[in-house]
Amino acid sequence: MTRSTPDSAPAFDSRYPRELPGTFERVMPTAITNPHWVCWNSALAEQLNLPIEPDDDALRALSGAGLFAGTDPIAEKYAGHQFGVWNPDLGDGRGLLLGEWSDADGRAWEFHLKGAGKTPFSRFGDGRAVLRSSIRELLASEAMHALGIPTTRALALIGSDEPVQRERMESAAMLTRVTPSHIRFGHFEWFAYSNQPDQVAALVEHCLTHHFPQCRNAAEFFNEVVERTARLIAHWMAYGFCHGVMNTDNMSILGETFDYGPYAFLDATIPDFICNHTDAQGRYAFHRQPEVAFWNLQCLAQALSSQVGSADLKAGLNRYADVYNQHFLTLMGERLGLTQLDERDQELISDWMHLLASERRDYHHSFRALADRDPQQWTELDDDFIDRAAFQRWRSALAERRLREDRNGVPLAQSRNPVSVLRTHLAQSVIEDAKKGSYASLKEYLSALQSPFERREQWHVWSETPPEDYQAAPLSCSS
Ligand code: AMP
Ligand code: MG
Repeated sequence: MTRSTPDSAPAFDSRYPRELPGTFERVMPTAITNPHWVCWNSALAEQLNLPIEPDDDALRALSGAGLFAGTDPIAEKYAGHQFGVWNPDLGDGRGLLLGEWSDADGRAWEFHLKGAGKTPFSRFGDGRAVLRSSIRELLASEAMHALGIPTTRALALIGSDEPVQRERMESAAMLTRVTPSHIRFGHFEWFAYSNQPDQVAALVEHCLTHHFPQCRNAAEFFNEVVERTARLIAHWMAYGFCHGVMNTDNMSILGETFDYGPYAFLDATIPDFICNHTDAQGRYAFHRQPEVAFWNLQCLAQALSSQVGSADLKAGLNRYADVYNQHFLTLMGERLGLTQLDERDQELISDWMHLLASERRDYHHSFRALADRDPQQWTELDDDFIDRAAFQRWRSALAERRLREDRNGVPLAQSRNPVSVLRTHLAQSVIEDAKKGSYASLKEYLSALQSPFERREQWHVWSETPPEDYQAAPLSCSS
């Protein structure tokens, strides 16, 4: 890959294998057959100082058939708690870290090729990703980014005619995932539980040097991870995102949304919504996410106990609830056109959530309907509610609260409430088109999701709610 501006520096570095020997296996990608472009994310490419149009070298390297200069592909070793149960046998089983690319500001981005073939950590898997789940990851990560929610990004998606067996036959694809770091909570857990404290220390050092330069030591690093995780989950809860597989191996040390599998955004407001059909107990139900993230942070704390004293670990964990609550309140307040929130506003927000949940109102449209009107016009929405009186009481309270704001809440609320939302049924319709070789609807949906707050006539279809009788195809981890 060449830069969009001439530069004599080598394109890729491979500092992870250089700095962290003993934490990975070197593996070459296995090419997919007859690769072709499904999507090149030119908006992200521009940000990374990559060409706006990809060349044939990029197609080869990002479909596993070639290598960019300077890359040294590896499969990272990690472990984790899956549905609460310790599993030491994890690692990159179907993805490889290719290397780190530096953007125009010198910021390094890891390129991870998802679906690159078998590795020593594949266990019984085939090392492949399918087109369906790769499209879901592409759409979701770009939607999250546009909503301001920390996330890994998707740079490229390449399809193939290689058959892959899942619940039914599908086709293999490769997704290039980009983020400053792919280190998971499970990396620390593996080296702690396999009694390799020096490797835990090396990982902490690597994180401090490259990703947390503002932290002076392991205790500050842990504290920062707690705060980032709390803010991330507040974002998920404010925007109705359900991850579905919050195992510790799917938790990013950077506090980004990571490893998109059977995720879903809420349609109707259902607090105990479960998006992963293998999660029969609802461990990862929407409303449980804040406590699950805390449980995961406790696992990380244990894994760091050789590096951080127990008082500091406890102090870090104690920050979680406050940071979460504060951030959630701020985000929800902004969605309602409010700033400078205080404890008293909590009731206003929870009453709204109760109202939406008791009537199963569409989560996103309900917010946007308020945002698109001045408070005097909210009477127009009275008929949408079965319990009209409850809505009238609530909207009067919000209208009164808005009078105490010194800025106009309408532009603020419109900039915080998406018109175009990632919905399971719309993603599925785009996937059906893609399976037939047509990627036009995927590109259109992606554009709408990349500008979610903008209302455009041609994007109308991307804000539609699912039909009443819509039955989502079951989503599981096995994609
Ligand atoms: P995930 O459910 O994607 O978070 O993956 C959990 C573990 O299973 C990780 O160690 C993955 O690398 C591995 N894995 C998932 N799918 C495959 C696959 N198709 N082939 C090999 N390993 C896989
Ligand atoms: Mg995973």
